Amino acid sequence: MSASRLRVGQGFDVHRFSDDPDRRLVLGGCTFEGERGLVGHSDADAVAHAVADALLGAAGLGDIGQRFPDTDPRWAGADSVGIAREVATLLAAQGWAVVNVDCSLVCERPKVLPRRDEMQAILSAAVGAPVTVTGRRAEGLGAIGRVEGVACFAVALIERVEDPS
Ligand code: MG
Repeated sequence: MSASRLRVGQGFDVHRFSDDPDRRLVLGGCTFEGERGLVGHSDADAVAHAVADALLGAAGLGDIGQRFPDTDPRWAGADSVGIAREVATLLAAQGWAVVNVDCSLVCERPKVLPRRDEMQAILSAAVGAPVTVTGRRAEGLGAIGRVEGVACFAVALIERVEDPS
């Protein structure tokens, strides 16, 4: 296999915590009970958004803001794991297979490790390839360190399995 059949993409997303007590915190498709939710048009799942952006970037298909605009009522309160799933379907239709995605979720809270396996299972099922998630703390530095929000970085590798028609 020639290296040109492989493409890498990166994704990044950040959302701030909401003061709205009705917002639920959803990360990697997991709901964290008793935690403040994040501000966003969709469910504000920064992990799923970073995964979707990494995949779109790898395939050269733009970004999540173009594909799933926050002005579109279809995505209001949307389950963002579904967005990641749609992106994987879009890539498949263009002859790409997802090899894997790796995410770094940067937050002071919630604690990531207890839910990591669950997030990985949900995201892996959505994109049809292994998705790994690690939690990182910001060590009290900056906005994330002040617990004003969460950020997520993702790197995706995709492979061309069908030549474009
Ligand atoms: Mg987002």
